[in-house]
Amino acid sequence: MEKRIKTAGDSVESQCTRCKALLNHTIIAMVAGQVARVKCNTCGSEHNHRPVKEPKVAAVKGAKADKVVKSPRARAVKAPAISDEAIWEELIRPLDPDLAVPYNMEGKFRTNILLTHPTFGIGLIASSQTGKIEVVFKAGRKLLRSAC
Ligand SMILES: [Zn+2]
Repeated sequence: MEKRIKTAGDSVESQCTRCKALLNHTIIAMVAGQVARVKCNTCGSEHNHRPVKEPKVAAVKGAKADKVVKSPRARAVKAPAISDEAIWEELIRPLDPDLAVPYNMEGKFRTNILLTHPTFGIGLIASSQTGKIEVVFKAGRKLLRSAC
């Protein structure tokens, strides 16, 4: 069975601004597949659609606001968790660029230190292996040669 999609002219339950109650409304306008404007079947007033409100749970301050909730399905489609650019913006940009060490091929670098590269700018050394380091730049992850 296809999921029934609402269209203008259908009725929908909406919180009426005038009646102050959840009542049947007729859909006037849809925006991007969502009910946008409705007309109250009881008082006839038109207003933006207000879906049924969830009862307010006592807000836990600051909790879960920015946590990414991973559903089991997200793993199946292999969605990238956080982009390197987001990591860069979040972790690397706020760091003091004066602490960055200049990159050179003969250098020995530890992980989790800032590095400046003539082409890629400032990055954070994510890992170091024999002969190379992996650095997160704003432009993405790069493998660079090193003397490690
Ligand atoms: Zn009404």
